[in-house]
Amino acid sequence: MPQRDARESWPLTMGEEPAYCPACGQALEERVLEADHRPRMVCPAGHVTWRNPRLVVGTLPVRAGRVFLARRSIEPASGLWTYPGGFLEIGESAKEGARRETEEETRLRVEVGRLIGAYSRPHAGVVTLIYEANVVGGEALPGVETSEVRDFSPDEIPWAELAFTTAESALRDWVRSLPGHGPAFEPELYVEGDPPPEA
Ligand SMILES: [Zn+2]
Repeated sequence: MPQRDARESWPLTMGEEPAYCPACGQALEERVLEADHRPRMVCPAGHVTWRNPRLVVGTLPVRAGRVFLARRSIEPASGLWTYPGGFLEIGESAKEGARRETEEETRLRVEVGRLIGAYSRPHAGVVTLIYEANVVGGEALPGVETSEVRDFSPDEIPWAELAFTTAESALRDWVRSLPGHGPAFEPELYVEGDPPPEA
């Protein structure tokens, strides 16, 4: 299982705890609401500032069996490789967001296809959806957050230089889904809970 990841201390997505209510500007305090089970940020007027994981969308852009990756030029994980992706915007479908992020970060034009997987990173507060995408045009060029974009065959993927566990998981799932690369479903990864006691 992927172990590597960007520094956990990096305020990847959730940022600082908010101090003031976005609705009315009064100070927030932690309070457990009636019939709730954990503390929420609440102002004296009763507005709740919800803090929930955010959705990241991205693609593995593929052309002629090769997958394009981008080398990040900003923190976190500067210098390491990842898929093009970013936060889904309000008003976008997940596939639209994945296509937009891919075109912004790689200058490739893509048609977004099947979902490769949904990956949860609880400590970072994100859930990432990664789609396979067909490259239909454009030219691979770095964007503002990347220094290099290039394609890799499944045997060339730089496993030791990937930026996030999500990139590693998505690439492994993609490689496993290719003809001749083994089953996509590995039952031992999906077992939950303790084994039953010996009879
Ligand atoms: Zn308020």
